[in-house]
Order: sequence, then structure tokens, then C-alpha cells
Amino acid sequence: MKYIRKLRLLLERQTKRRLVFLMFFSVFVSVIETIGISAIMPFIDIATNFDSIQTNQYYHSVFEFFGFTNNIDFAIAFGMVLIAFYIFRGVVNLIYSYFLSNFSEGLYAKIVKKLFKTYLAMPYQIFTNKNSSHLTKAITAEASLMAIVVNAVLLMVSEVFVVLFLYTLMLFASWKITLVFTVIFAFKIIFLMQTVSKKAKKIGAEREQSQAQFYEIVNRVFGNFEHIKLQDYQRLKETKNAFAVAVDRYSNANASYRFFDFLPRMFLETGGFSLVVLLLVILLYLGQSNVAHILPILSLFVLALYRLLPSINRIVIGYNTLIYNHKSIDIIAEELSVKKENLGNKNIEFKQKIQLQDISFYYQDKPILKHINLTINSGEKIAFVGESGSGKSTLVNLIIGLLQAVEGKIIVDDSVIDASNLQSWRAQIGYIPQQVYLFDGTVADNICFGRKLDEKLLQKVLKQANIFEFFHKKQGILTLVGEGGIHLSGGQKQRVAIARALYAEPKILLLDEATSALDGDTEQKIMNEIYKISKDKTLIIIAHRLSTIKDCDKIYKITDSGIEQQ
Ligand code: ATP
Ligand code: MG
Repeated sequence: MKYIRKLRLLLERQTKRRLVFLMFFSVFVSVIETIGISAIMPFIDIATNFDSIQTNQYYHSVFEFFGFTNNIDFAIAFGMVLIAFYIFRGVVNLIYSYFLSNFSEGLYAKIVKKLFKTYLAMPYQIFTNKNSSHLTKAITAEASLMAIVVNAVLLMVSEVFVVLFLYTLMLFASWKITLVFTVIFAFKIIFLMQTVSKKAKKIGAEREQSQAQFYEIVNRVFGNFEHIKLQDYQRLKETKNAFAVAVDRYSNANASYRFFDFLPRMFLETGGFSLVVLLLVILLYLGQSNVAHILPILSLFVLALYRLLPSINRIVIGYNTLIYNHKSIDIIAEELSVKKENLGNKNIEFKQKIQLQDISFYYQDKPILKHINLTINSGEKIAFVGESGSGKSTLVNLIIGLLQAVEGKIIVDDSVIDASNLQSWRAQIGYIPQQVYLFDGTVADNICFGRKLDEKLLQKVLKQANIFEFFHKKQGILTLVGEGGIHLSGGQKQRVAIARALYAEPKILLLDEATSALDGDTEQKIMNEIYKISKDKTLIIIAHRLSTIKDCDKIYKITDSGIEQQ
């Protein structure tokens, strides 16, 4: 029950509405199923004993009402109506399963889109505390499992109706037999719920943990492939073993679950078959030795069981599915509740100055920057220097709004940077981070990065970044860079990153160790180019080499105690 409550919180209104519609539809389907099964009894009754048409008052009134003249015609007409009804039943069931499949796949798409949207809106600082393999797992594996869970619940509810209706029908047909039936099945179902479902919960948790491990190892290995190659025999074996353990745990959990999926059916079917035999014995024992007499009720029970067993089976399986995959509900709920940036679309103009007022920043409880005050005038070229780990990248991330200060504020001209204008502020900045990551695609794709392709501009920025000639000798802007830019050298990657930042023609250009991988000559060329293009831009540079920053107007040193101009 608590899982259902959690699910309710996760689903959107429209989804819930569709869910309710499908539930009503499923009740309709159950009614049709019940009619289909109950109609067989009178038909067999009539077919085996024509006299009953005249002796039974119900048959007789129908016979009279439609003005039949002989029994055979009546039986044939009844048969035709039944056939028409079964065709109708088939069509209704088809339509129902069409809606059901669309619903569950649509639900999957909805969850994934919502997750992706949430992740995109996640603050950078939260992202740095996440493990990207968990995010990938949530989006790929858990979302589809959650859709499966919702589907299972839906199926369970509709099957409960089938069971209820058929049960009522059986009670009407013979309450004594139904009672025997109830006792046997109640025990079986309770037993199944107690044993299998408990186990399903355990292996469900096991599935989630081992799958997380699985994703992590894959990510770690492919993200550090050069280190993997450098491992000695022993350590390589350990890596393989760790992976094998995770995969085995995962597949064992799934294997057990699959077995438990099959178990209820066998368990119930055995009961079902025995019951049919038992039924015959009881009927014969009750003194109805005439098979023609017991045939209608026997066929009703056989048919009812034939329809009922799969229903009960699906209810048990649905319940197990819910239990086995319950973690995915928790995970999706948790992931959807990560903090989101709620950014407004107010514009911000930067004409005169950026002021940092009393900025302090902590990672967890560790102070990184304390009471920083700084003014950057428009058009100024400034540099931050300082020891490794002193907080230069952190300060820059605060200025560009990737991180939010714990204390203090940033004022651009007269506007304080806050959620309402942050998006507009960030969009004015060309940032070349310390860690360049290029994605698997062409140079053009990597530089445009979702912006419109302007070939002229593209060539211009490639030349400015001193990398045009290099690509020109290859396939030009269509040269593939490989995942993470693995086909390029470190310096070439940095130059592509510089071109990427320049392509936006930003007002503020920010270089965090952007030329550290370049040789002196190339660096000088690029820096000259950068100083040239940023004549009317604001330039912020972090660099260790003095040669890089010698043309800056101001140099600030960041130390433990604060910031000082040099
Ligand atoms: P470098 O010259 O080596 O690039 P830096 O001056 O740019 O150094 P920062 O990257 O700003 O240094 O890091 C400042 C401090 O903050 C470091 O001590 C680092 O360990 C810590 N730090 C950075 N990122 C995080 C994070 N996401 N969580 C916790 N601590 C962090
Ligand atoms: Mg840094």
C-alpha cells in the first residue's frame, strides 16, 4: 500500500487521469469476460437438451419474444449471437491491450523526460556531488522499471475485477463448489504472498545494488582506460573479478526473480487441475450421474478456472513485480526531488562593472574563500594567480554564476545577480574551463555546441585559436575528435575549447588555465590573438605562467587570508 501511495505522488495529474480511465476500461473488459464465460452454460444446456428450451421459463420467453418456430433455429441463432459476442470480446481486449501498451511506454517516456529536465535544472554544485553513473542508471534502468511497476499495478487492479466478477458468477452457479475452491486457493495465495513476495523484496534490493556497482565499474573502466591498460596482471584480474561479482549478483537476482515469476503459475495450475477432477468427483458423489446434466456447470467451472487462474497468477506476479522493483520507485522519487534552479528570464546588462561584495564560499564546512571584495571594470583584463587549491577556479565559478556564494553578493552595474537574471548573466560569458571535455562528434558540432552553424564565424574562431590549419589538413570542420577529444592532443583540445568560447562572441571571456598545455610559441600566438579580440571585452585569466598574464591590467593573488592586488 505504501508503494501505491508513493506512486501516486510521482505521477502527474494527466497520467493519473489516464490511469483511472484504463481502470474503468478494465472493469468493462472484466464484465465482458464474465458474460462470455457465463453464456457458455445455457448454450451447452440447450445444445445437449433441446427440451429445456420449452421447459425453462427464461429460454422460453426469449424463444417467444423473437418469434422462433423451432428449437434448432433457436439453438443456431443462440450460437451465432455467441460467436458475434466472442468476436466483440476479442476486439475489446485488443483495444484494451493497445491502450495499455501505449500507456506504459508513454509513461516511461514521461518519467525519463521529467528526470532529464530535473537533471538539467540541477545546480552545478549538486551535480559535483553526484555520481554520473547513478544518474545514467536512473535515466536508463530505473525509469523503465518504474514504468513496469505502474503497469503491474494497473494489471493487478484490472485482474482483481475479473476475479471478483468470475467469483460472483461461480457463487451463483454453485456456492458449495466455490467454497471448496475458495479454501484451497486462499491457502495457496497466502502461502505465495508470504514466501515468494518476501524473497522478491530481498532480491529486488540485491538487483538495485549490484546494478549500481555494475554501472560504476563500467564507467570507471572506460573513463580511465589508459590506467586500466597500465595495470599489472594482478590488478587487472581484480578489476575483472569485481565486475564479474557485480554481474553475477545482478544476473542471479534476475534469475531468482524470473523463477519466482514462474512459480505461482505452476502452483496455481496444479491446484486448478486437481480442482477440476475434484469437481467431477463431487458432482458425481452428489448423485448427478447423468453427464448431460453436469456438463453445463462443469464447463462453466472449467472455463471460469481457465480464465481465473491466469488472473490470479497475474495478480501474484504483479504484486511480486511491485515488490521486486520497489527500489526504482524510491530512486525515481529521490532523483525527481533533487534541488532545481528556478531561473527567471530577466535580462541583465553589463556596461560598467562587476562588484564582488564580501563573498564567502564553503565546500561542505571547509572555508575556501573568505570575505572577498573585488571590482572588475568593463573592458579590464585581469588575472588571478595563487597556489594550487587556493580557490581560483572556485572564485571564477562564483563570478560566472555556476556556484552560489554562501555569503555576500555579486552586483553587475546596479543589479544583484540572483535567480531572476542568472540565466541571462551566464549566457554572456565565454568560459574555457580547466578540464576540457569534447564529445564524440565533429569539430563543428563541438564548437557550435547546439548553437546555429555559421561557417564564416567558425573559420574565424578556429583561426583565432590557431587550430584552423591543423583541421584544414584533415577533414576540415568535419574532422571527428573522438570521445572526450581523444583523437586530439591536450593542446589541440584546449584550442578547440578556446574556439568554442569565442564562437559565442561573449562580452566576458574567462580562461582557466586555458593555455597550460601549449608550448611557449603557440601560447604567445593565441594570447596575442585573445588580447586582440578582447579589446572591447572583459577578460579574466587564471594562469601560472607569468608570460601569459604579462599584458593584464591587474593581477590578483588569492591566498588563504583573502585576495590582494599585486
Ligand atoms: P588549481 O590551481 O589547482 O586549479 P584552484 O585554485 O583552482 O587550484 P579550486 O579548484 O578553486 O582551486 O579548489 C579550491 C579548494 O576547494 C580545493 O582545496 C579543493 O580541494 C576544494 N574543492 C574543489 N571542488 C570541490 C568540491 N566539489 N567539493 C569539495 N571541495 C572542493
Ligand atoms: Mg583551478
